[in-house]
Amino acid sequence: MTTANSWLDEFPARIAELDRAHLRRKRREVTPHEGARLNVDGQTMLAFCSNDYLGLAGHSQVIAAACAGARAFGVGSGASPMVSGHSVANAALERELAAFVQLPRALYFYAGYATNSSIVPALVGEGDALFSDALNHACLIDGARLSRAKIHRYAHADLAALSAQLAQSPARRKLVITDAVFSMDGDIADIPALLALCERHDALLLLDDAHGFGVLGPQGRGSLAHFGLAGPSASRRVLYMATLGKAAGVAGAFVAGDDALVEWLLQKTRSYTYATAAPPLLASALRASLTLIETEQWRRDHLTRMIARLRDGLRPVLRGTSWQLGESTTAVQPLLIGPNDEALAVMEGLRERGLWVPAIRPPTVAEGTARLRIALSAAHTEADVDHLIEALAQIASAHARLSPEPETAVA
Ligand SMILES: *Cc1c(COP(=O)(O)O)cnc(C)c1O
Repeated sequence: MTTANSWLDEFPARIAELDRAHLRRKRREVTPHEGARLNVDGQTMLAFCSNDYLGLAGHSQVIAAACAGARAFGVGSGASPMVSGHSVANAALERELAAFVQLPRALYFYAGYATNSSIVPALVGEGDALFSDALNHACLIDGARLSRAKIHRYAHADLAALSAQLAQSPARRKLVITDAVFSMDGDIADIPALLALCERHDALLLLDDAHGFGVLGPQGRGSLAHFGLAGPSASRRVLYMATLGKAAGVAGAFVAGDDALVEWLLQKTRSYTYATAAPPLLASALRASLTLIETEQWRRDHLTRMIARLRDGLRPVLRGTSWQLGESTTAVQPLLIGPNDEALAVMEGLRERGLWVPAIRPPTVAEGTARLRIALSAAHTEADVDHLIEALAQIASAHARLSPEPETAVA
């Protein structure tokens, strides 16, 4: 049977709509090259887009551990951890992760997205209350929606608003969810203040440390350690979550916290129970990566120097433009451009100069705040960072010649 005007025929027009709004995303085919370079569609590019902040994804010891893991355990895990997928390698990794973040117990998941979108509904449900920063990652938002708890969204980092919402909520179970380092802005949440609020209102704090784990705190132990909140002082009010595909250079994620809380998540998280366990070779690779994170402080020190070099170098370049560098001290350095087409044009200008910096557009970021998300890594050299600054200087001056009117600042 055929139907006139079926919605199934509308996809080409809907895609054309994305094109018109400069919102169509295109993938590139990449192969890793030396250092922070990538071969992109056949061309070598200096990349500032990877979350491999410590340069561990291609490390020889991590690769060797993955190969040894494949030989010892095979490539696939074969089943859910609840059946036969809980390999000795995954179990050892969980113990090492818990010790590393100085919390009682950890649970290892195959991906961060699946973790957050599934642990939130395991923690709260109908009749409970959720408090969520407006700039939280999509997987926390999806978890909140799936939970059916009442969602209170507070303006980004507005703890006065959060405090008022917590005080007014009649719910007995309250869960505050937040990125620890915000993924598109690079700023760090005020975790001590969040914890104090949670203490006052008997709420649990779920911290997504995807961009802090491995990078922040002594030995890279993450954002709790960054604020001196790890170890014996770690509160049972925190459920710590981090991903392992960014600074750790591999894949997967984990949650860590109070023993009973983690046991509850093991029992009730659907993406844990009903998904095939991560391949044990990844756990082998992650254990090697964890050792490098802990012992090679020079990676974090070098990254810190690259961040300072970029910020210092861009300051004079941005003078007289409408572009703004976000207030970030982390490896995520957002260069706010504003309109989608302009952000794409700057990205294109960089591409022509052999540099790859992704333009991030709505709905990933708010309307009118399209930006270049510059991600720095320990794999970048001083010359790499200088190359980016110089290219942006050329594009900014060409842009100024094209639009002689003084630009209004981007809000
Ligand atoms: C990348 C990211 C995730 C998702 O983790 P994956 O392991 O890539 O699925 C979750 N939260 C934040 C803040 C992230 O940046």
